[in-house]
Amino acid sequence: MLNSLLELRGFSKLFFNLNLKRLSKSFKVLKLFEEVFAMAAKVDRDACVGCESCVGVCPVSAISMSDGKALVDESACVDCGSCVSTCPVGAISQ
Ligand code: SF4
Ligand code: SF4
Repeated sequence: MLNSLLELRGFSKLFFNLNLKRLSKSFKVLKLFEEVFAMAAKVDRDACVGCESCVGVCPVSAISMSDGKALVDESACVDCGSCVSTCPVGAISQ
């Protein structure tokens, strides 16, 4: 009886550990997916009202102003999304 219980416990533990391993693999795959498919921010110049809020939040200074509208340097953008959530008129997307 005790042996069966211990076996059952060992089996549950093994099952639990396997699931944890699987879960962590899935997270790694998701992260990789995110890194590969993350897109640089894009500004809808028609929607931009030139408030410059996005310029100050970019951690890599990838946004500048051009003709009163925000302009993203796609080669510098690290896809953090800060500008997207900062824009008051939703003019930036990724
Ligand atoms: S997504 Fe981040 S890094 Fe790219 S332009 Fe916006 S704030 Fe800058
Ligand atoms: S925060 Fe939005 S509206 Fe303001 S300058 Fe940037 S893109 Fe334009």
